[in-house]
Amino acid sequence: MEHLSKEQLEFLKNLLLQRKREVLQRLKTFHESESSKVSTEVGDEIDHADWEMERFNQFRLRERETLYLKKVEYALKKIEAGTYGICENCGKPISFERLKARPVAIYCIECKKILEQQED
Ligand SMILES: [Zn+2]
Repeated sequence: MEHLSKEQLEFLKNLLLQRKREVLQRLKTFHESESSKVSTEVGDEIDHADWEMERFNQFRLRERETLYLKKVEYALKKIEAGTYGICENCGKPISFERLKARPVAIYCIECKKILEQQED
C-alpha cells in the first residue's frame, strides 16, 4: 500500500468504519420496522399483497445492505493485513481518488471496466 500515505489510509479506514455504522443502523431500522409490522393486523387481501411486496422489497434491500457490510468488513480486514488498495485482478495500486469515492473497491478502474458486470 505504498501508494497510500498513512493519513490517506487513516482517512479511508475512518470512512469504512463510518459506512459500517450507517449500514448497521439501516439494518437495525429494517429489523425494527419488520417487528412492528408483524404485530400490525393484516387487513384485506390488497393490503396483504402490498405488505408482501413491501416485505420482499425490504428483504432485497436488506440483502444489499448485508452484502455491502461484508464488503466493508473485507476492506477493513485488508487494511489490517496491509493489502488494501491493491487491485485484486492486476495487482496494481487503486488510486486514492477512487478509494475515496468507493472505499470498498477491490479493482482498479481499468479492471472494473473489464469486469463491468461485477459490482464492487
Ligand atoms: Zn486492476
